[in-house]
Amino acid sequence: MSTDGLFLGTDRGDAEYRAAMKQAIDAVLDVVADREDPYSGAAPDALSESLGDPVVPEEGRGLETTLDEVAERVLAHSVDPSNPRCGAHLQCPPMVPGLAAEALLSATNQSLDSFDQAPAATVVEERVVDALCDLFDLPREADGVFTSGGTQSNFQALLLARDRYCARQFDRDVQNEGLPPEADSLRVLCSAEAHFTAKQAAHHLGLGEDAVVTVPTDGDRRMEPDALETTLAALRDRGAAPFALVGTAGTTDFGSIDPLDALADSAAEHGLWFHVDAAYGGALAVSDEYGDLLEGLERADSVAVDFHKLFYQPISCGALLVRDGGTFRWMARNAAYLNPEADDDRGVPNLVAKSVQTTRRFDALKPYVAFRTLGRSGMAALVERTLALADEVAELLGSADDFELLGDPTLNAVVFRYRPHEGMTDEETSRLNAAVRRELLADGRAVVARTEVDGATSLKLTLLNPTATLEDVGAILEAVRDCGTTVSGTREVAA
Ligand SMILES: *Cc1c(COP(=O)(O)O)cnc(C)c1O
Repeated sequence: MSTDGLFLGTDRGDAEYRAAMKQAIDAVLDVVADREDPYSGAAPDALSESLGDPVVPEEGRGLETTLDEVAERVLAHSVDPSNPRCGAHLQCPPMVPGLAAEALLSATNQSLDSFDQAPAATVVEERVVDALCDLFDLPREADGVFTSGGTQSNFQALLLARDRYCARQFDRDVQNEGLPPEADSLRVLCSAEAHFTAKQAAHHLGLGEDAVVTVPTDGDRRMEPDALETTLAALRDRGAAPFALVGTAGTTDFGSIDPLDALADSAAEHGLWFHVDAAYGGALAVSDEYGDLLEGLERADSVAVDFHKLFYQPISCGALLVRDGGTFRWMARNAAYLNPEADDDRGVPNLVAKSVQTTRRFDALKPYVAFRTLGRSGMAALVERTLALADEVAELLGSADDFELLGDPTLNAVVFRYRPHEGMTDEETSRLNAAVRRELLADGRAVVARTEVDGATSLKLTLLNPTATLEDVGAILEAVRDCGTTVSGTREVAA
């Protein structure tokens, strides 16, 4: 096999690239435009079987054939988040500006770990970060970095919080010396509804998941400020060392937003690093109508925001912002081949020192292109439309006899149960909804999520798609009813 046609910058390579991109685009449009249902319904075994051939054949089959195969065997059995009847998770329909940006950034392959691998890209990321700090009303000293998403942003925020605290409290340089002897006493607080990555981060940071103390929530699933104070007092009495408070702006199931202002008060009073996990709800910052829901976020020490959720960018794309850019020093290091200290003195931007990654994608280009294309108001309109739809859907579910709405939506997640008969017990309803969800996935007409609410299986719609209408959601609910009838006629519910 020669290099002929494989690389850009050669006549054959450039022509192959153009042809392959066209073929790839056509294949995507076939799936999105021509397939009616959001999923084929194929089961895992069937998917594996349909891939057939060995992954690594002795002789290559050529790109055109391979792409055709991928279209048929993979794309045709992918879930289609652009379909308005796909409304399960925080998996957004990617917008066209973001897809164009993705094509540009992958083909040019800039790597953000050093200026000489990504000169213009480095500056674009810095400018996008500045714009985000402005959007969230963070002060001038604020800074940030792009991440793979909320998981990485939350981890990194707690890493900075831990190391600053250990330096101040125990005079310990964690980067060089590891955790201090007092590490067992370190605690992170978050609400009982916070994302699991707070616990995961505590594990990865060597503190263990038990270092995360969950604070009870109110009827709207928001952290209760009084309960936070009580919890903090109890921790102090026991000699524990709480160092960080995580507020959530948009919990994954209900989209609830903690009372950020009250949390910021507590954090200030008790000397805690205040991190806001706004992976889901951060997009409200672009909206005049809903921006107030984030009040208090501007007081955060750090903010996690995801662009691959309510900002409609292709996966993966997130950012961590910090109130004081100087706090990145807790993880900074200088590598002779990437960012020698002499370069810092000469003002060469150095993003590798702010990231837990080394080689890093130019994901900042996606929100850059999206914001430039649509403007703040255009982005706001998308988010606002989905929140309005969620309210309409909640009303529809609330008035239906056979559905039970579990709480009014704050963002665009709607949690509910299918309960066709008045007399059904909670346990029967839970089993029925689990069975309905399984049947729906095999049916393919609608993609709906399942979640546990107070121990009972429930259904969830995350209505991210701005093109979805109430009629589309009506069709999803019809599919739920049909699947309910199907599984009620089988023994599956009893199993
Ligand atoms: C999605 C989400 C995360 C995890 O982020 P990833 O982008 O999946 O890594 C964390 N917290 C919240 C609130 C989320 O919605």
